Amino acid sequence: MTILDKLIDIIYPPRCHVCHGFIDRAETGPFCKDCYAGFAKLSSPICTVCSTPFASEAQGDHLCEDCLRDRPAYRSAFAAFHYRGTVVKAIHQFKYRAKTYLSESLGRLMAEYAEGISIGSGNLLIMPVPLHPKRLRERGYNQGLLLARRVASHLKAELDFLTLRRARYTAPQAGLKKDERKRNVRGAFKVKDPSVVEDKTILLVDDVSTTGNTLNECARVLMRSGSREVFCLILAKAGDRSVFI
Ligand SMILES: [Zn+2]
Ligand SMILES: [Zn+2]
Repeated sequence: MTILDKLIDIIYPPRCHVCHGFIDRAETGPFCKDCYAGFAKLSSPICTVCSTPFASEAQGDHLCEDCLRDRPAYRSAFAAFHYRGTVVKAIHQFKYRAKTYLSESLGRLMAEYAEGISIGSGNLLIMPVPLHPKRLRERGYNQGLLLARRVASHLKAELDFLTLRRARYTAPQAGLKKDERKRNVRGAFKVKDPSVVEDKTILLVDDVSTTGNTLNECARVLMRSGSREVFCLILAKAGDRSVFI
């Protein structure tokens, strides 16, 4: 921290990125102690492919019923946090209240988590789940892209946010039943130029995943376009399938 930063902290005391209470930045970064403690890391037992948390601790990590029945097109989806506690508050502010500065702190948490995941080697391309232009106009930004930027710069990997596109507008997944969610995103994405993704390992980045249908559909078109493997990195995984996102 420079003298100028310290001076700015005295004039404008730093506030928590989530609850806006005053903080001691040296202790818990951009969050207050309570908010920092409220980030719940995703922990076992979870599905080894889609990361859905299991309610029962009777068994360790294993495949969930959905992945057993119909294996996703992606190799695995990694999630930094459970969709509960501080991360829910943070995502709502980030996504629906235009607090885009949260991409800095949340993106950093995601990037630090990404350092520890195993995603093969070489030819890595980071891609956000694209938003339809209509949704992009409404919100003004793609929250997935803001996070993907942080992850790419942290991992020193290439970022591509133009090749994977929305082919059509889809209704929000929230509120749809399981089979409706799958149908809703079927054919919703396209790869503009397959040569960009050919033989590449793709890391798809998004903020929240519930059933994983959107990630799976993105992975399906990427694999069909010649990608070597697709992994997913999400900030928070919802175990409750009826959760609002
Ligand atoms: Zn706070
Ligand atoms: Zn699963």
